[in-house]
Amino acid sequence: MQIGNKTITFRMSAAYVAKLALLTALAFALYLAKFNLPAIFPSFLEMQFSELPALLAGFSMGPVAGVLVVIFKCLLKFPLTSTAFVGELTDMLLGVAIVLPASLIYLRRKDKKHAAIGLAVSTVCAVAVALLVNRYISIPFYTTLYFDGNFNAIVGMCSVIYPNATADTFYAFYLGLGIVPFNLLRCAIMALLTFLLYKRLSKILHWEGTSLIHRLSGSYECDNEEETYALAKKVADTLKGGETVLLSGDLGAGKTTFTKGLAKALGVEEEVTSPTFTVLNVYEDGRLPLYHLDMYRMENGDELGELGIEDTTPANAVKVIEWNKFENLTGRIIDVKITVEGENERIFEISDSAEHKKEHRTFAFTKKADGKAV
Ligand code: ADP
Ligand code: MG
Repeated sequence: MQIGNKTITFRMSAAYVAKLALLTALAFALYLAKFNLPAIFPSFLEMQFSELPALLAGFSMGPVAGVLVVIFKCLLKFPLTSTAFVGELTDMLLGVAIVLPASLIYLRRKDKKHAAIGLAVSTVCAVAVALLVNRYISIPFYTTLYFDGNFNAIVGMCSVIYPNATADTFYAFYLGLGIVPFNLLRCAIMALLTFLLYKRLSKILHWEGTSLIHRLSGSYECDNEEETYALAKKVADTLKGGETVLLSGDLGAGKTTFTKGLAKALGVEEEVTSPTFTVLNVYEDGRLPLYHLDMYRMENGDELGELGIEDTTPANAVKVIEWNKFENLTGRIIDVKITVEGENERIFEISDSAEHKKEHRTFAFTKKADGKAV
């Protein structure tokens, strides 16, 4: 699916299904844990925060996952319905109005600002949908279902809170003083909780499954330099010597930062600097020799040969190449593509040639070698 310049990839891995199930279960539990605020709102307005896990799903796994949590949560409630499914269906509508705008906006750019804008837009959408749903679906339907169509009964029921409301002015009171502040409060609390919890739960939410095969290939989101260092360590821990790590991405994407993490994990103490001007930096004090190359200003690999660099590279060296121009690389190649998503957010797409021939089982969908589902 194409949205703007972003592609939503369906990653139906076992980890995806597990996370979706867990967040749906949480959403369902929160859906049942509803309560009233009878002093300020009519008693049939029930406060609950079941969209919170859906928002977490939407932010971490994409809009599709967020909407699925909303839908499954409501479907689970169907057997317990006391409103001939109308309550569950309107909650489904309301849930989508909350989760979809926020996760779509966050998908465009994954930073705090877009999370905040997304949650604000969601709040406005939720209030709008709640107004329409209550005016044209819920109240008319419940009047028929519980009060034999006697609208005055509902007006009477709310007279403690809206003593001045008549049958003619009921909607103005109920929508203006009930639905609007009630939904603003509900969305504000969920937005705040999403903000507080999302980063804290980020590790769990982005869990990609544990495999017996040590697997690097796949897409990783790093939200700060520390996470990039951690990813570089994960790569470094698989190195035995002789590998080539190719780094690509725009200027400032994090190629040198990633190399710093790699060097640190290999035990290099010397400070790693960009080889932009030196072409090649060599670090020999780590577990394996690290050859860090920047080919930006080179036409092709032959130029390096002329410099005699290849001949002097030991067989067990790990070669890290920014702006690679070699064409016939052999041995294990770890291709790392970095995309800038926000001020500190980066997506690392790793493809490990050592894993290309292996089969990887996935759930329902087939996975391409680059780790993306098709
Ligand atoms: P490149 O070598 O690709 O031109 P650098 O590694 O030199 O890029 O620069 C990346 C810049 O982005 C650094 O200033 C670094 O502090 C910053 N940065 C912010 N967040 C991250 C992140 N998650 N991963 C890597 N670098 C990041
Ligand atoms: Mg650099």
